[in-house]
Amino acid sequence: MLSRLSRSANADRNRFVTLYAAIVVGLLVAAGMFLYEARIIVDDGLRDEEAFAVLGAANRVLHNLENAETGQRGYLLTGDESYLLPYRQGVHDLDDTVLHLQRVVANDEKSVELVQRIEHSKTDKVTELARSIELAHSGNRAAAITLVQTNEGRQYMDSLRGDLGQLLNAWREKRRVATRDAHVRLVYGTAALAAVAVFVCCLLVYTLFIQRRAFARVHAYSAALDLEAAQDSLTGLPNRRRLLAAIDALAPSSPDDFQRTGLLYLDIDGFKSVNDALGHSAGDALLRRLAEALRAATPEQDMLARVGGDEFVLLAADCDDDEQLRELAGRLIARVREVGDKEYGGRFQIGVSIGIATCPDRADSVAQLLDVADTAMYAAKQAGRSTYRFGTSAGRGVSNVVKLTR
Ligand code: GH3
Ligand code: MG
Repeated sequence: MLSRLSRSANADRNRFVTLYAAIVVGLLVAAGMFLYEARIIVDDGLRDEEAFAVLGAANRVLHNLENAETGQRGYLLTGDESYLLPYRQGVHDLDDTVLHLQRVVANDEKSVELVQRIEHSKTDKVTELARSIELAHSGNRAAAITLVQTNEGRQYMDSLRGDLGQLLNAWREKRRVATRDAHVRLVYGTAALAAVAVFVCCLLVYTLFIQRRAFARVHAYSAALDLEAAQDSLTGLPNRRRLLAAIDALAPSSPDDFQRTGLLYLDIDGFKSVNDALGHSAGDALLRRLAEALRAATPEQDMLARVGGDEFVLLAADCDDDEQLRELAGRLIARVREVGDKEYGGRFQIGVSIGIATCPDRADSVAQLLDVADTAMYAAKQAGRSTYRFGTSAGRGVSNVVKLTR
């Protein structure tokens, strides 16, 4: 049993180590996944913000150009100087917005090229606007309108709109990709994390199960050890240790609850001759047969224990009179004789000598019962064996000598 327990304890320990390692790996994987996905989602967010800035800057460039052009057209058509205000504001803002656009696309090579082209077209367009305004301002409005009609300015504007449109489309696409990527990662990342969490929970539940099983095994083993420690392995009867515990338990907690206790000490007669003639295992078999016969003759409420080689003790916890004990001793002697007559064809003279002690009348305390009964058993041997004797503890009655009565 011990080696089986040690094997299962080793197996459980290995299982625990594997499970804890799996839990740690699961948690590390979850943490790693979380960090990786979070970093990518943050990057997606930054890309989205960057695209948003580019789209805003590009739209402002277009807006400034349209303002400048609207102001120029209004001035050329009406000669009203107030139209020059949006024109000047648009031209003034254009430098800043184009510069801003250059800065926000600086990390994207293709966009940098596009913005360079936009910048050139913007310069050409602003020059064309300035030329027409100057002509009108110097009183030559017809020449200014003719310049507008050449469609030169419209070509610059078309080219600008084309390049800005390309830029806007490219960054709208970037923004869409970044947002979709962030969404996909959020959905799959959450699902993966949930799966890892379920996996770790399953491992924890399994660990709990293994732990409970290991505890149950230890508990069962400790109960078996307790039983083994209190049991005689050859006959299955209680051993000396258990008997002493039972005697201890009989000690009264107060004088009022004292009950008369009897103890019979038995030593088989002529047992060694079986060992000598047929060997130790034949002796063992006879001991088992004798134990069975004695057990069968023992009252249900009493305890029969094997306390040594061929020695047994019967503890009668509640016996009111000696007659009861005499009758019991006679029955035990008869049963042992029956076994002796039956086993090995009655070849061996098997009997039993019994010493009897009672408390409180013959022994001062339950602790003395064993000694008194043991001494009385020797007296029974001396009296010719296969008989019983009552013993009295030293200092009781008329003399210091054990007083024996039949
Ligand atoms: P007596 O009549 O005086 O009691 O003598 P006996 O032959 O019964 O021998 P005794 O009681 O002096 O000694 C008991 C012997 O039992 C001694 C020992 O060799 C033997 N013995 C002790 N334990 C065991 C055991 O577990 N199995 C067997 N087979 N023999 C045992
Ligand atoms: Mg003996």
